[in-house]
Amino acid sequence: MEKEKVLISACLIGLNCKYSGGNNKNEKLIELMREKDLVPICPEQLGGLSTPRPSAERKENKVITKEGMDVTKEYKKGAQEVLNLAKKLNIKKAILKSRSPSCGVNKIYDGTFTNNLTDGDGVTAELLKENDIELISSDEYL
Ligand code: SF4
Repeated sequence: MEKEKVLISACLIGLNCKYSGGNNKNEKLIELMREKDLVPICPEQLGGLSTPRPSAERKENKVITKEGMDVTKEYKKGAQEVLNLAKKLNIKKAILKSRSPSCGVNKIYDGTFTNNLTDGDGVTAELLKENDIELISSDEYL
């Protein structure tokens, strides 16, 4: 039987696409590859941002780097690319890295760069949710 296709934040399976140039490798999710066809995506790279890149947080309807640069356009482009891929491959589920301004599900950093969390989704998580894709936070695999 064909395995279920599930989008996954690429940093969770060890790709060095984090803003710092590192990753968030999670052994439980590597293990999950036996059961699911995990499709890695990094919306920030798909939006045209380089790696490494300045850290950024959502602030109201924008995404701003720590140095004050507006990167909303790149974050939105990345989200749209991920949605296009999900539609093309008929993917209905995504496992996304918690707290990220792109991938965070239900809780994200609050835009003050002080490690405070607030209710909300990352830009990509929000768009996928609006398009009825089921989201699972990586925190469920800790
Ligand atoms: Fe990981 Fe998502 Fe950030 Fe890319 S945008 S590094 S996939 S959390």
